[in-house]
Amino acid sequence: MSARDYDLFVIGAGSGGVRAARIAAGYGAKVAVAEEYRIGGTCVIRGCVPKKLYVYASRFRDDFEDAAGFGWTVSPARFDWPTLVAAKDREIARLSAAYAANLDKAGVETIAARATLEGPNDVRLSNGRSVRAKTILVATGGSPAMEPAIPGVDFAISSNEIFDLPQFPSRLLVVGGGYIAVEFASIFARLGAKVTQVFRADTVLRGFDGEIRRHLAAAMSHAGIALKPGVLPTRIDKTPDGFRVALANGESCDVDQVLIATGRRPHTQGLGLDVAGVGLNPDGGVIVDERSRTNVPSIYAVGDVTNRINLTPVAIREGHVFADSVFGGKAAVVDHTLVPTAVFTTPEIGTVGLTEEEARSTYDVVDVYAATFRPMKATLSGRDEKTFMKILVDGETDKVLGVHLVGHDCGEIAQVLAIPLRMGATKVDFDATMALHPTASEELVTMRTRSVRHERART
Ligand code: FAD
Ligand code: NDP
Repeated sequence: MSARDYDLFVIGAGSGGVRAARIAAGYGAKVAVAEEYRIGGTCVIRGCVPKKLYVYASRFRDDFEDAAGFGWTVSPARFDWPTLVAAKDREIARLSAAYAANLDKAGVETIAARATLEGPNDVRLSNGRSVRAKTILVATGGSPAMEPAIPGVDFAISSNEIFDLPQFPSRLLVVGGGYIAVEFASIFARLGAKVTQVFRADTVLRGFDGEIRRHLAAAMSHAGIALKPGVLPTRIDKTPDGFRVALANGESCDVDQVLIATGRRPHTQGLGLDVAGVGLNPDGGVIVDERSRTNVPSIYAVGDVTNRINLTPVAIREGHVFADSVFGGKAAVVDHTLVPTAVFTTPEIGTVGLTEEEARSTYDVVDVYAATFRPMKATLSGRDEKTFMKILVDGETDKVLGVHLVGHDCGEIAQVLAIPLRMGATKVDFDATMALHPTASEELVTMRTRSVRHERART
């Protein structure tokens, strides 16, 4: 290539793009990143971070109620939505500024503009500028899929809008049964909304371990969320005080807001990928190999836009490994196995490794160790809640294949469990580990009795 402005041009300053830009600049590359909205991307601005802040807000309801069992008298608690939104805004602004400062400190030029590809090395910016770069990284993330496309769907909101509603939705219909749907149903129910959740499957969280799904669904119902499996909306009409939603089962539902959480689509439309010749999957994701290379040698892609595993730490790792290999001379690939994940409902899910369904379809002998118990705090609080923990073991090698948890802090526990699972820990290793008492996670090293052994018929 002859003239060029940058060694690396990154499109999208989200989790993957920011990390890649900073690391590449650290290796001495001349780097710019274009961001059309706010630096930090989905996770920081309208994803993980504000979501977790709202999860904390929602859990105070249980804390206030539970305190009485421990001798506290709490005057009637009142929740103020605008106070929470404003506090969240301040924290998000602080974080976004910190991301921008870190890019600046690393020597990365940030450009507040939408970028589109005009060729394998050419980018056009919405501010009228055109730039050339030796390497281009597409890190444009994803955006909410507003499905099903029913009449009146434009009245509905997505997770992009729910954080900043001017008024608290006292009656909320959530459409979908995935991560976003269950997390927001859980948050808004505890903040005081009457929540109805409709979804097409027989229970929530397709792809998670079956027992975990059932345990969560029961806990959500117990918390007052009206779960309607196998039901989808058919139309949304505006009413004087909100919306009327017709459901496929013939019922209708009057609500203040309809949150559609039926998945996210890779952000690839109108990006000029076709002009540059970049191949896309049928789902719209950029096709990449294990090194995040597209079919065009100068163009790479990381994060949600590739629709591999759509989680922040994965996007960050993909961005980091891309920069290490292309600019740091350290060839590496991202290992997409044993990625721990949490669902920040109340109760919280933490999981790593194979589900029982996956384990049984892959291994000949699967031993299941499971425990359901009342958390210690519930003894005095009187709260009717149960923690569930399950360990799946390869019955032939004793290797732990997966651990699935629902209860307090289970996301935190799953993160730590990801380490022994990566190291190939066996059930004997778990058993040999000393318990830490009194904790919930001591259950993981004291489960001695197998609940069931599944043996696959050998042909
Ligand atoms: P993004 O963070 O989406 O960044 C892409 C950026 O590119 C955006 O800032 C966008 O404005 C910009 N952009 C797009 N097109 C252009 C263009 N043409 N020009 C310039 N800029 C452009 N993950 C977790 O691990 N844990 C969680 O708890 C969690 N909670 C979530 C909660 C919600 C409500 C949502 C929606 C997502 C959540 N996620 C969570 C997923 C996580 O946010 C994403 O996996 C992560 O942000 C992906 O990072 P990314 O860099 O691929 O894309
Ligand atoms: P998910 O993929 O988790 O769930 C999508 C839901 O929408 C499923 O219940 C799915 O149903 C349903 N659905 C899909 N298409 C349709 C349709 N056409 N009509 C009706 N229902 C439909 O997506 P989310 O939007 O909840 O979240 C997007 C991603 O963001 C997650 O997959 C995850 O990677 C990430 N995320 C992570 C979080 C975390 O780490 N805690 C939190 C939030 C998001 P079915 O089950 O039948 O397929």
